Amino acid sequence: MAAALDADLVIAGAGPAGLSLAAALSGAPLRLLLFERAKLSEIAEPRFDGREIALTQASMRSLRKLGAWHRIKPSDISPLTRARVLNGESEFALYFSNRRRGEALGALVPNAAIRRALFDVVSEQANCTIITDQAVISLQSGEKSIAALVSGGRCFAAHLAIAADTRFSPLRQSQGISAHMIDFGRSMLVCRMTHAIPHQGIATEWFDRGQTVAMLPLQDGMSSFVLTLPARQVEMLLEMSPEAFAAEAQRRTLGKWGAMSLASTRHAYPLVAVYADRFVAPRFAVVGDAAVGMHPVTAHGYNFGLASAMTLAGELRRSAREGGDIGRLPGLLRYQRMHRRATWPLFLATNAIARLYSDERLLSRIARSAGLRLMRAAIPLRRAVEARLSG
Ligand SMILES: Cc1cc2nc3c(=O)[nH]c(=O)nc-3n(C[C@H](O)[C@H](O)[C@H](O)COP(=O)(O)OP(=O)(O)OC[C@H]3O[C@@H](n4cnc5c(N)ncnc54)[C@H](O)[C@@H]3O)c2cc1C
Repeated sequence: MAAALDADLVIAGAGPAGLSLAAALSGAPLRLLLFERAKLSEIAEPRFDGREIALTQASMRSLRKLGAWHRIKPSDISPLTRARVLNGESEFALYFSNRRRGEALGALVPNAAIRRALFDVVSEQANCTIITDQAVISLQSGEKSIAALVSGGRCFAAHLAIAADTRFSPLRQSQGISAHMIDFGRSMLVCRMTHAIPHQGIATEWFDRGQTVAMLPLQDGMSSFVLTLPARQVEMLLEMSPEAFAAEAQRRTLGKWGAMSLASTRHAYPLVAVYADRFVAPRFAVVGDAAVGMHPVTAHGYNFGLASAMTLAGELRRSAREGGDIGRLPGLLRYQRMHRRATWPLFLATNAIARLYSDERLLSRIARSAGLRLMRAAIPLRRAVEARLSG
């Protein structure tokens, strides 16, 4: 577009969201510069980080469209056929499945496999240059362009800059965008476990007293074990030997999955939810966790991140097609409106669920038991949740 500029678009962060945005702009008449502070090897061959991402059917369709889905090994794709919610010691279970379409709710794919597939797509893309080992450290927006200063000392001018730089996004803050942040004061420990009693393709979310356990069904008789506890307890579990940890996991799950053993490295993540008060500023927008950083309990973080990339890319393609300036606010504001509408209700509902199910007071315990029974009785409500889960 403008020869004087280094690019049309500068993206800070080649995580799943930044890569998705770049891939969604493949073939558009736009030149992209994608900066990543990590080394090339870390994003080209990302290591297992414990996260198994529950993708909705809608996200799977988007990844197909981006050319990333077929690059994921079949052994990395575990279909999610049913989900059940358990509460404390109660025998009562609430089940979800995708009855409407008769297909799986979605699929579980390791975060590292998604990142690798997206990296492969973008690295072959003619209109995108990936620059690794370089962080975008500041942005200066002007009337016709925005300048990105990177850690190597160079400055790159573009029509628009995008921050895909994690939920704590210093770039978002630097553009005067505040964010609503909730620190749940807990951490989530994630790892793979093998277990004697098969999971039968059912994902379990179990809101137990003092802990939340999720068992997400993977291939080869394995599950992703996801345990939410106060941060100090998680630290202690990380320090245990694999054998002691497996025994502790079996004790905490009351033997529901039989004998367990550790099948991967263990990883911990602090639970902080973030919602940016705005998604755009002059010549600037946020995508992925930098826009909406979800509590993982409803498994929507990357699903929303991918949706943000697809929506924004649609607006940028439209501006480029009309020969306009992609950094102009009207197109960016349309993206903001659409993405807020798609995410705000579930952001609020997710935080309410996370709070209610980690509150040990008697009233909360009564409320959550009543909530699950009500949901089973209220079939339209359950169908709405099922539609939401499958996207
Ligand atoms: C335990 C756990 C389970 C989850 N489960 C699910 C699930 O089931 N379903 C789901 O949809 N989501 C899930 N999520 C959420 C999902 O992992 C995140 O939403 C997703 O990784 C966010 O991607 P992102 O690209 O926005 O940010 P990140 O993954 O944080 O990536 C940001 C990238 O930007 C780079 N970077 C940062 N600053 C700069 C800078 N200044 N310049 C250049 N590069 C920079 C970083 O190095 C990094 O590569 C889960 C999260 C956790 C923690």
